[in-house]
Amino acid sequence: MADNKIPYKIYLEESEMPKAWYNVRADMKNKPAPLLNPATLKPMTAEELGHVFCDELVAQELNDTDAYIEIPEEIRSFYRMYRPSPLVRAYCLEKKLGTPAKIYYKFEGNNTSGSHKLNSAIAQAYYAKKQGLKGVTTETGAGQWGTALSMACAYLDLDCKVYMVKVSYEQKPFRREVMRTYGASVTPSPSETTEVGRKILQEHPGTTGSLGCAISEAVEAATTHEGYRYVLGSVLNQVLLHQSVIGLETQAALKKYDIKPDIIIGCAGGGSNLGGLISPFMGENLRGEANYKFIAVEPASCPSLTRGKFAYDFCDTGKVCPLAKMYSLGSGFIPSPNHAGGLRYHGMSSILSQLYHDGLMEARSVEQTAVFEAAEQFARVEGILPAPESSHAIRVAIDEALKCKETGEEKTIVFGLTGTGYFDMVAYEKFNNGEMSDYIPTDEDLKPGFDSLPKVD
Ligand SMILES: *Cc1c(COP(=O)(O)O)cnc(C)c1O
Repeated sequence: MADNKIPYKIYLEESEMPKAWYNVRADMKNKPAPLLNPATLKPMTAEELGHVFCDELVAQELNDTDAYIEIPEEIRSFYRMYRPSPLVRAYCLEKKLGTPAKIYYKFEGNNTSGSHKLNSAIAQAYYAKKQGLKGVTTETGAGQWGTALSMACAYLDLDCKVYMVKVSYEQKPFRREVMRTYGASVTPSPSETTEVGRKILQEHPGTTGSLGCAISEAVEAATTHEGYRYVLGSVLNQVLLHQSVIGLETQAALKKYDIKPDIIIGCAGGGSNLGGLISPFMGENLRGEANYKFIAVEPASCPSLTRGKFAYDFCDTGKVCPLAKMYSLGSGFIPSPNHAGGLRYHGMSSILSQLYHDGLMEARSVEQTAVFEAAEQFARVEGILPAPESSHAIRVAIDEALKCKETGEEKTIVFGLTGTGYFDMVAYEKFNNGEMSDYIPTDEDLKPGFDSLPKVD
């Protein structure tokens, strides 16, 4: 039965937007393991991290104790340009599925970058500006993070150097041009502009690049240019902190109508949107106030949580970054070339890895044709053309709703709709032409990645 008191879209007033981010580490009994210096295998100090990251972001990265960290007014005023984002009741999808479940999604695609990544991009650019830096460097894969960061840098008048995975640089020229329109310089990676890039090109001539490789180049560019620091769009504790704005708004919107979710679902690449969405709810669970079920959804072709090892690993191919303890497929892992749905990072946020390891969150892997089927079904009834990444969450939300149809349970399902898929039409084209296939890596395929894990534990 439709609950007709609840509007199709629940909006918050500007005055109801969060004034502080929520730091779930404060409520975690087992804290995420610290980043290690790859040379000494000792925890990275604030001073060491300060060579790579902005000072304020280093403090946030290392802060395991403060539950709330104030959002500076300048960031809040940027947020007001595209936030609060709506929490949508998927009445049309519920009807189409014939399910008694109540489905809600938090939509983060209503900004030019087309995803949630802008929430952290503006924060990171702000702290760089505040420190008096000239600019920032970063990597981008499909291009969403690079786009978000170039928007934030344009707003604050900061220089932005983006290393873009070569295959995406060539296949996604429109993303590249959006970044350049916002004033960023975009270099295909691996490139001749860095030592690590030249080394990778020498060892793997003709390589089309990877995220891990672009990270190495961006870090080198930051540490060799005076007045620059490196910024990263996912995985790190600070990024999950900034993304908690998603979960806090969701929590406030649900509270307005006294809605209690049963299941909260998000797609997981490096873990930032999922971590941000679930953090405040996880906090309730950790404090014994609630018992929500959380599901992380990842591609079967890049299954870091469901098949990875929980171990210290390199964050990048060039092994210049600190080591992070996480569920990982090994920094040498590269997904099969037919994989089209994004979420291709080899590791996972240390916070989410620890929560998963402690049994506080579930994980599921899904095959890409099933993901695009869900995307298409969703687009046709809810109107929004979802990003392939987001569609992983849609898949599992639909699966859970169909289970409710069988059992007659009226569960409340919330999922994160992280962005739109207008720049992913090549992948949609493959699906529409029936040319998309599934590939699940064998244990044999995963072995070289695992062999690349450093021996730390
Ligand atoms: C980058 C991205 C993701 C995955 O990144 P996380 O850090 O795991 O959230 C998901 N959806 C969209 C639209 C993205 O751009």
